[in-house]
Amino acid sequence: MDIFPFENSYSSLPERFYARLSPTRVSRPELVKINSELAAELGLDPSKLATEQAIEVFAGNRVPEKSKPIALAYAGHQFGGWVPSLGDGRAILLGELRNQSGHLHDLQLKGSGPTPFSRNGDGRAWLGPVIREYIVSEAMHNLDIPSTRTLSVVSTGERVFRERSYPGGILTRVARSHIRVGTFQYFYAREDHEALKLLADYLIDRNYPELKKSENPLLSLLVQVIEGQAKLISKWMAVGFIHGVMNTDNTSLSCETIDFGPCAFMDRFKAAKVFSSIDHNGRYAYANQPMITHWNLAQFATTLIPILEDEKETAINKVTDIINRFPQLYLDNWLSNFGKKLGMENPTSEDFEFITGFLNILEKAEADFTLTFRTLSTVPARTLQSCHFENFAISPNLIVEWIPTWLERLSREKASESERLLSMQKVNPAYIPRNHQIEKAIVEGVDGNFERFNTMVEVLKSPFTQQEGYEEFEKAPETNEIVTKTFCGT
Ligand code: AMP
Ligand code: MG
Repeated sequence: MDIFPFENSYSSLPERFYARLSPTRVSRPELVKINSELAAELGLDPSKLATEQAIEVFAGNRVPEKSKPIALAYAGHQFGGWVPSLGDGRAILLGELRNQSGHLHDLQLKGSGPTPFSRNGDGRAWLGPVIREYIVSEAMHNLDIPSTRTLSVVSTGERVFRERSYPGGILTRVARSHIRVGTFQYFYAREDHEALKLLADYLIDRNYPELKKSENPLLSLLVQVIEGQAKLISKWMAVGFIHGVMNTDNTSLSCETIDFGPCAFMDRFKAAKVFSSIDHNGRYAYANQPMITHWNLAQFATTLIPILEDEKETAINKVTDIINRFPQLYLDNWLSNFGKKLGMENPTSEDFEFITGFLNILEKAEADFTLTFRTLSTVPARTLQSCHFENFAISPNLIVEWIPTWLERLSREKASESERLLSMQKVNPAYIPRNHQIEKAIVEGVDGNFERFNTMVEVLKSPFTQQEGYEEFEKAPETNEIVTKTFCGT
C-alpha cells in the first residue's frame, strides 16, 4: 500500500472550487525535519517518512498514487481592501488523511511551485518562514491553542529570490480544513449561490457534523464559528500572540490559527504592539485582534444571507443577531483565560477592571508579559515582594506595589496556595517561541545548522514545564537582541 492513504473529498467538489495541478519538481530535496508524533496521529508510519520515497512526496517531486492534487480558490479582504481572487498561489493540497479519531485532515505542500493563483509570485517559500511556521504552529498546538500543524520541512536545493537569494524550503501543513472566510467570499462575490450552498454543506459535514441534526444548520454553523473564533482569539491574547495578517483569507472556518507570516509573541507588554513591517496603520495590533475578528466574521455572515432561504431582510436580521453576540462571547472567554492566569477560579465581571488594571501596570512597567505571569505562578506569595522583577521589567516597583491588592483578591479564592500555583503554572507558559530565538534558528538554519531549530521544537513540546538546561529559551531578549519588526518574506 502507498505510504499515504489519501482521501480526496475537496477535489470531489465542482471544478470551479480549485485548479487541478501537480507540484513543480525541485532539483535536490533534502529532509530537514519530520514530526513523528503528528505522523502517528495521522495514522502514518513515521519510520516510512524519512525514506527517499516520502521525501520525494514532501518535495513535490512525486505525487502519491492516491493523491489528487489541487490548489484551492478563495478571495479575501486584505487590510480591509477587497481582492476578488487570491487562492493557493504557492500551496497544493495533496489530499486528506483520517486521524485516529476519524477526523479528516488536509495535507498541503506550501512552497511547491506556481499555480493559476500565483499572480506575480513564484509559488515558492524560503527556508526562513518555513522554519518559523514549524516552530510557531507546533508551539501553538502545545500551548493548547487550535492551530494548523506542520508535518515536515524539506530544503529544495534551489534558491529563492526575495530582497536577496535564500535557500528554498517546502513545508507540509496539516489542517482540519483549509476553508477560510475568503473561500465563502469568493463564491458570494460571483453570486454563485449553488457553490455557497455546497461549500457550507461540505464544511458542516467535515468540521461540524453534529449540526446536520439542528433545525437550521447554517445558522448553527455561524454560531459555532463565532464561538470557535471567540475562544481562539482570547487564547491568542492570553499568550501575547500577534497574528499580524488577519485578512479574511487568513481566518479559518475550522477555527484554527492559520498562516504564520509576520506573526510574533510579545516580549514586553504593549496593547498597541505591532510587529509586521507592512501593517503601517496598526490595523492588526495586539489589542485590535478581537475587533478585527468580529469584522471578519461579519464578512462571513454576509455570505450566508443568500443561502438562508429567507426573505433578504429576515436573513439579515438573523445573522446580525448572531454576529452581535461576538463581543460578549469574546469577553467571557477573555475573562476566564486572564482570570485563570491570575489564579482566579471563577472570575466575574467585577474582576474585569482588576485584570485590565494589571495589564496597564505591565505596560507602564515595560514588563515581559510571559515572565511576569510565570513568576506570579511559581513564586510563593510570602516571598513575592522580594522577587527580582527588575530582571524583566523597566519599572519593577509598579508590579511590586500592585502585589498586595492581588493577594487581597486571592484571599477570596478557595484553593490553597499550592493548588493555586499549580493551576497557574498550567496556563502561564515558561516558554513561548521568542522572536529573537526564532531569528537565530533561522539564521543558523539557512547556514545548514538546524540544532537550535530542533532544540526549540523539543523545548516547546512542554511549554508549561520548566526544563533544566534550557533557560536560554525562557529569558527575555537582551536589549540588542530585541526583534522590533517581522516580515511576511514568504
Ligand atoms: P498570505 O500573505 O500568506 O496570506 O498570502 C496572500 C496571497 O498571496 C495568497 O493567495 C498566497 O497564495 C499568495 N502568495 C504569497 N506568497 C506567494 C508566492 N511566493 N507565490 C505565489 N503566491 C503567493
Ligand atoms: Mg494566507
